[in-house]
Amino acid sequence: MDLSFILNELGEDRENYFNAVAPPVMQTTNFAFNTVSELRDAMADEFDTNIYSRGQNPTVNILRKKLAALDGAEDALLFNSGVGAISIAVLSLLKAGDHAISVKSPYSWTNKLFDKILPKFGITTSFVDGTDPENFERAVLKETRLIFLESPSTFNYQLQDIKKIAAFAHSRGIVTIIDNSYCTPLFQQPIKMGIDLVAQSATKYIGGHSDVVGGVLTGSRTMIKRIFENEFMNMGTMLSPNSAWLLLRGLRTLPLRLNRSFESAKLLTAWLSKHEAIEKVIWPFSPDFEQAALAAEQMQGCGGLFSFILKDSSFEKIENFCNNLQHLLIAVSWGGHESLVIPAIASMKKEDYRTDNKQHQLIRLYVGLEEPDYLIADLNKSLAKISLVTVPLNGVN
Ligand SMILES: *Cc1c(COP(=O)(O)O)cnc(C)c1O
Repeated sequence: MDLSFILNELGEDRENYFNAVAPPVMQTTNFAFNTVSELRDAMADEFDTNIYSRGQNPTVNILRKKLAALDGAEDALLFNSGVGAISIAVLSLLKAGDHAISVKSPYSWTNKLFDKILPKFGITTSFVDGTDPENFERAVLKETRLIFLESPSTFNYQLQDIKKIAAFAHSRGIVTIIDNSYCTPLFQQPIKMGIDLVAQSATKYIGGHSDVVGGVLTGSRTMIKRIFENEFMNMGTMLSPNSAWLLLRGLRTLPLRLNRSFESAKLLTAWLSKHEAIEKVIWPFSPDFEQAALAAEQMQGCGGLFSFILKDSSFEKIENFCNNLQHLLIAVSWGGHESLVIPAIASMKKEDYRTDNKQHQLIRLYVGLEEPDYLIADLNKSLAKISLVTVPLNGVN
């Protein structure tokens, strides 16, 4: 299916709403039926019928069709957050006594799900270094039901060999889930590489304007339907029609925004890696990235989120560098129009900081939609202030 068809036409039913180009927000809780018999038929098939908006809703359903098609999946479910999508999918697949394998250091709340919440229900998890696919094979127990991936990781940017791990999991009857928020389906299609379920935080690139929280899960119709009829309906984590409308609006420009973020990240990472105050830049599409070959093989492009380390990484220098920025904002999240920084020390007390721990020194930067020169000038000024090194910028102010 053409990308342009998916983004502009698929799932839309304009004749049913006055040929309006922008679909309406169906702000309704329930839907009425002409007869008891019609209601009875609908209730027998809540997955495909509008009955009550904790289940399906027409505005949400337009988004459902588009996001399933973008992933090359049979169906999709929308959630009120990315973490909701991940948690419900994982809960639906595991029961007491089961074992899961997760890549080490996934998104913080995914980590908490496996590390703190699931053990309360008698479910254990092994966390493995995902850069070697054999680590997953080594961690398998007879109770292993699930392998969870996040590639690239939004913490350390490490990749997993998606095809290899999916093929191995299938040979053992183990279900695979991947968090694909970083790449979006435009830059990585895990379903085509054999993954069963794909989760994304729609809050990030799909929404893209830092004004809506949402999540999506895609997969086979059978799996998505089973999750819908059980954990999804029971936990009540549906997306609101208003949020679905905002995500639809964001989705129209996803290719433009994602490519802009990608192209600007190329410029910023190249500039930073040459700056004398910078020790290292970590981004999967940097020429010196350790897994550059795997990145080129399984990703068609790269998100605009990367990290770097200052040569002089004292606690104060890192903090001052971030505080001195005039235009890049200090904030969590990413994927919006605005560029952001967040240092690892933001979640750390000064006495716990270790200068010899690279993870402590990381400064994460998200490249938004501003002019790249505008961002480079801001970084340059702030680096000059902490390092007393001034780099002349050609044509940049
Ligand atoms: C933000 C994020 C999530 C969680 O998404 P929410 O919409 O905030 O719940 C999950 N995975 C990754 C990689 C993220 O960056």
